[in-house]
Amino acid sequence: MNSVKSLKYPVKTPFWASWIWTEACWRIETQQPVLYLTFDDGPHPEITPWVLEQLNQLHAKATFFCIGKNIQRYPEIFQRIIHEGHAVGNHTWNHAHAFQISKNAYLQEVDDTELLVKSGLFRPPYGKLTWGLYQSLRKSHQIVMWDVLCGDFDQQITGEICVKRVLKHARPGSIIVFHDSPKAWTRLQVALPKVINHFKQQGYDFFSLK
Ligand SMILES: [Zn+2]
Repeated sequence: MNSVKSLKYPVKTPFWASWIWTEACWRIETQQPVLYLTFDDGPHPEITPWVLEQLNQLHAKATFFCIGKNIQRYPEIFQRIIHEGHAVGNHTWNHAHAFQISKNAYLQEVDDTELLVKSGLFRPPYGKLTWGLYQSLRKSHQIVMWDVLCGDFDQQITGEICVKRVLKHARPGSIIVFHDSPKAWTRLQVALPKVINHFKQQGYDFFSLK
């Protein structure tokens, strides 16, 4: 498959990205065999419990960047994430696009979500922030980006390709993005157990970001 030419997003974050948003976190600096799984866009009533089951069985901890309106809708699932020892972060109230709503409206979404999340971790939807939003948010939050994007949201690829991407690009301290959302479900089911099992066999641990 001609995945390089057709790719509309970088699987591996380009090296220069962290020079622009210097206070955002792209990877944890370590030589230890540790990886940081992150799950965006939940909680979801079926997919998030399935993810929690996998993490529990494989003794892995992770970080969930939740959407405020989904927390409001599924508070018991949100509580279960915390109860099982994972970290949570803010992903805006309604998956806001930084280039499509006003700065004030965006910050309001973050504030409303923070009342429920209360963690100080923030990940911008689509990985996009304006310079003004970055300057505001870096004061109130640890902005968490990523090192490896497996593309589980991409309907053009299979779960096996997601696995290959993570195996190729993950290194000690990598922050890896998955989605506990319907658009990723087909690929997530295939990719998540394989990724965790592979790296566990290599001696890696999976930690949450907080
Ligand atoms: Zn998202």
